[in-house]
Amino acid sequence: MQAMSGKVLLVTGGSRGIGASICQKAAAAGWRVMINYVTNANAARTLADEIRTNGGAAEIVHGDAGTEEGIAAIFSAVDEKFGRLDGFVNNAGVVDHYSEVADYSWARLERMFAINSIGAIFAAGAAVKRMSTARGGQGGVIINISSMAAVIGSPGQYVDYAASKGAIDAFTVGLSKEVAMQGIRVNGIRPGIIDTDIHASGGIPDRASQLAHLIPVQRPGHPDEIADAVLFLLSEQATYITGAILNVSGGR
Ligand code: NAP
Repeated sequence: MQAMSGKVLLVTGGSRGIGASICQKAAAAGWRVMINYVTNANAARTLADEIRTNGGAAEIVHGDAGTEEGIAAIFSAVDEKFGRLDGFVNNAGVVDHYSEVADYSWARLERMFAINSIGAIFAAGAAVKRMSTARGGQGGVIINISSMAAVIGSPGQYVDYAASKGAIDAFTVGLSKEVAMQGIRVNGIRPGIIDTDIHASGGIPDRASQLAHLIPVQRPGHPDEIADAVLFLLSEQATYITGAILNVSGGR
């Protein structure tokens, strides 16, 4: 555990999977972390306790990152508990069951884009308001978790998910240029197939191992392998990197 830097990191969907790994590694690197969750309070509490036991600082906040009110609640909690924001990881994201485009319902698309695209863009705006040197902030780093699906397209699985992450890639490029002179770096990461609960939520719990043969390195990734890339982009080793989108996908 490194000495605490005082810097504050907010991770949406920090309670499980990739987000939880980011929170653990960031806390170990000295960040004070705000762990957001939407349904699984126990997972968020257990993770925060584990971080505190290891000498780190963590708080949890409930909030739906796919709604305006939820995002307001998440950022208010950061203001109240920490009074500053230095890093923001736009990590909350969902898939849905495999379906062809011709069979999509309107409700499916609304949920997918509300959480993966609209919420992520709105939340990044809330982070910019707090970080921008043009608005009285101290600067900061934003990392958007996209997906290799944005490049591959996920035909027959979830083209809508791929499209929602394609929006995030374009957003990453645009926002990085908009705030480059406001002390904020904005980058994206495209995970490949990572072994988390997200596949079960899409109805195929063993999807990661089922598709391993499609990955050049012939195995799914571990959430820690995404978190390591996030920690690099957050770090002082990445001060000239902005507007980049890094594939972390075992070559896929
Ligand atoms: P996961 O295991 O399903 O975990 C999802 C996390 O997001 C949980 O902490 C969950 O909170 C939270 N969450 C879901 N909906 C939310 C909402 N509306 N508001 C706030 N939090 C919400 O997912 P993951 O695999 O770690 O995925 C994390 C990110 O990586 C997502 O953006 C995903 O699209 C992206 N990604 C994943 C993969 C992969 O293969 N795993 C590949 C490419 C990209 P609760 O615990 O409260 O439910």
